[in-house]
Amino acid sequence: PISTVRVLTAAQASVIPHRSLRCLLAMSYFHSSYTFSIEGSTRTFHHRWRMAGRVYECDACGTTCDVRAAYSQHWSSVGRTHCSAEQRTQLKTIEEQRINNFILCNERNRSTNEFLLDAGIQAIPQLLRLLFHDAARLHFRLSFYVRALNETDFLFCSSELAIEHHLDISETVDVLFLMLLEKIEAYMYACYPTRAAEYSVKRIKIYVRRELNRTESVSTRNAPTKCILPLQYRVKHATAAPSAQAVSASVVADANLYCFRICARTQELYVVPYQLGKCPSNACDSEVQRAQQTWDRIGCGAHYIQLESIDGAQQQLLEISNITRFLRTDEEDHVHTCVQCKANFTQRTKFQLHKALDCGRGFEVLQLDSDNLEIYEHCLQMRCDNYKWPLFGIIE
Ligand SMILES: [Zn+2]
Ligand SMILES: [Zn+2]
Ligand SMILES: [Zn+2]
Ligand SMILES: [Zn+2]
Repeated sequence: PISTVRVLTAAQASVIPHRSLRCLLAMSYFHSSYTFSIEGSTRTFHHRWRMAGRVYECDACGTTCDVRAAYSQHWSSVGRTHCSAEQRTQLKTIEEQRINNFILCNERNRSTNEFLLDAGIQAIPQLLRLLFHDAARLHFRLSFYVRALNETDFLFCSSELAIEHHLDISETVDVLFLMLLEKIEAYMYACYPTRAAEYSVKRIKIYVRRELNRTESVSTRNAPTKCILPLQYRVKHATAAPSAQAVSASVVADANLYCFRICARTQELYVVPYQLGKCPSNACDSEVQRAQQTWDRIGCGAHYIQLESIDGAQQQLLEISNITRFLRTDEEDHVHTCVQCKANFTQRTKFQLHKALDCGRGFEVLQLDSDNLEIYEHCLQMRCDNYKWPLFGIIE
């Protein structure tokens, strides 16, 4: 029996205590499957996950098509939120003014949970996606302005991390949030053991340094700037590389093509078929049919993953050499333990990011003077439809 999971509204989110907010951000307990079912002349794509013995069907990922339609049809209507014209103008100003620091502010009448939830899932990932335009990688760190119950102000700063692929943004922000919240809670518990949870987060400072793609030149067409898979695929040693020769249109027409998708509910990254190879011989018709139903089995022909730019434009086709490993989702609930700090992780990507952040050892806590005032004389006002909170770029 499949039941649909209810999406948490902002109002509901505001009543969750900090600890479960952390769980919500962690999303570490999902065991997802991505399958197609055929009924009559309709083919339906399902994203389902198992949690505490129950199966939930995702209401954001599911799509339906005519059974004869190409698989790509399933993904044509659903898109990520791309940047608006307003944001493109902001990006120009950010470049001209060389802005590296941004401040996201909570508002007077809103709770810390509501602010953190939206900042971690929407506002900060959106900002990073904007800054990933024309960038090869982002160097990124976060600082939380925290007020303890006795009105003392603290600044909790993460260390710096590089984001190599725009599809790693959500997960990286997740991990930084988790580690900062852990630091804050441990610190508050040490200072105010009985009322440790009564802190509020007033502002978040986001530092981003963009490492730009080399300027477009004639040679770029032959030598692509970068061909890197998202972290989740890098950690499972899935290998995909540009072909030695340019892939001809006829090869592409017969090949198996796949593309990445991100679930809007669970933030999971997964691969779906874009086109499954038409086998030229009749000999393996049954094989192909089987491959099309349980599509994550090896079919005929070559396999390519399509990489897309942040704006959804096709960037590159990488040939996948180990398709089984590439498509396999981690099913076993294998726990990875950090040898340094004994922290446990159920997801390899989170563990990898934790290690890249050196278990949080470089994180800092500063106590701010009570008369601490930060004045920024020149700011770029960035609040718009994509950011529901006051957001400023600091012009230095
Ligand atoms: Zn864009
Ligand atoms: Zn989904
Ligand atoms: Zn065949
Ligand atoms: Zn560790």
